[in-house]
Amino acid sequence: MSGLTNGIDGNPLLSPLSQDDPELCKIIQSEKRRQRRGLEMIASENFTSRAVSDCLSSCLTNKYSEGMVGQRYYGGNEFIDEVEKLCQTRALQAFGLSSEEWGVNVQPYSGSPANFAVYTALVEPHGRIMGLDLPDGGHLTHGFYTATRKVSATSIFFESMPYKINPATELIDYDKLQETARLFKPKLIIAGISCYPRHLDYKRFREICDENGSLLMSDMSHVSGLVATGLSPSPFEYCDIVTSTTHKTLRGPRSGMIFYRKGKKGVDKQGNPIMYDYEDKINAAVFPGLQGGPHNHQIAAIATAMRQAAEPYFKTYQEQVVKNAQALASGLSECGYKIVTGGTENHLVWVNMKSVGLSGAKAEKVLEEVAIACNKNTVPGDKSALNPSGIRIGTPALTTRGLKEHDFSTVVKFMDEAFKIAKDVQAKSGPKLVDFNRVIHEDEFKTRLNDLRERVEEFADVFTLPGLPDL
Ligand SMILES: *Cc1c(COP(=O)(O)O)cnc(C)c1O
Repeated sequence: MSGLTNGIDGNPLLSPLSQDDPELCKIIQSEKRRQRRGLEMIASENFTSRAVSDCLSSCLTNKYSEGMVGQRYYGGNEFIDEVEKLCQTRALQAFGLSSEEWGVNVQPYSGSPANFAVYTALVEPHGRIMGLDLPDGGHLTHGFYTATRKVSATSIFFESMPYKINPATELIDYDKLQETARLFKPKLIIAGISCYPRHLDYKRFREICDENGSLLMSDMSHVSGLVATGLSPSPFEYCDIVTSTTHKTLRGPRSGMIFYRKGKKGVDKQGNPIMYDYEDKINAAVFPGLQGGPHNHQIAAIATAMRQAAEPYFKTYQEQVVKNAQALASGLSECGYKIVTGGTENHLVWVNMKSVGLSGAKAEKVLEEVAIACNKNTVPGDKSALNPSGIRIGTPALTTRGLKEHDFSTVVKFMDEAFKIAKDVQAKSGPKLVDFNRVIHEDEFKTRLNDLRERVEEFADVFTLPGLPDL
């Protein structure tokens, strides 16, 4: 049909997606419907605002601007320079930082490239790095490897050594970290989490670093929204470098940032000033070291998200995120589910499903069947990362949609009902996941799951979903 491809005035490039590519448009519409009618409890996700989405679909995606503000390799960047400068200023403001003491690179494409740029800048090839182990709540990029495989590039190009959680207390074992660091003498220690519901002791990290001449990097990806609003301790007081994603609690676009100390570090024995030298190294590692042209639409979207982060409503939002996480943790605990570390101080709830006889994979699967999204996760004491015993859930996304504590009581009831169905499925299927995934689709369970799914979707549909209007 020529009408579909001819676009406006016969120019196909002017057609909206719905006309230009109905096949793809339909898939995106289905995803939007899934987001609206489901309960998004993946702790690293959020829903961006209309303003952020507007930036992401703007003309800024067209422009090449390799280099830093005022020093580009391409012409025509006067407005791109304005965008990036505004983004940097607002990013420093959002975290209460003075431009005398801190600088920020907003060009990393996402959180993983931001971390790799820091290691590239400040650690020599095969230099030593310590981070929280992945199964204990750390991130892949903090150096994950297994007995048979170096998984993260951080462990391929650098020598990484994990620190861990004490399985008895379920808290980070700072004493053991200190002991290992004395032996390993890392160039850099990372204080950062992807699944740890407690505040970090940055002061303790600093002391351990100082003992060994190590740099301290905070990766605040998960908690940066809480840091910006003073609900989580600030890493800036103690760290040399702070990295962050911008799309988690911070509620911006998918992207990354690197904050680095600059200016005077101290004085030497002769009384001459010693200056921080991170700025040039980090900028050079991002470009031309690892990346090419910055994603200017993302940088604009970070800029507008950082403006929002300074608004009083953003603090109210983050407070609600934490209250909701606490309501979720105590609700699940009252239903008999074991919460790792006994509760939460942030947006995360880490649930040990072993206590009710389910695995993380089965819990994730049954929730998916009823339109609740979460992810399976190892818990302290798990022997293998391949068969994790827990799930990780979080409240940032649903809090953005307007859910309050009493709504989370309803969410807890839905989850409890789903887990009870999972137990019944398992009673029939036996322990193997393949059998469980087959039996769950048998009629008797399908009917119960569909009934629950309908109630979940009806409940979720009422809450607003921000972003662009439907395609
Ligand atoms: C999410 C996350 C990252 C990586 O972010 P991507 O944007 O997915 O690359 C890095 N570090 C931590 C601690 C994270 O939680």
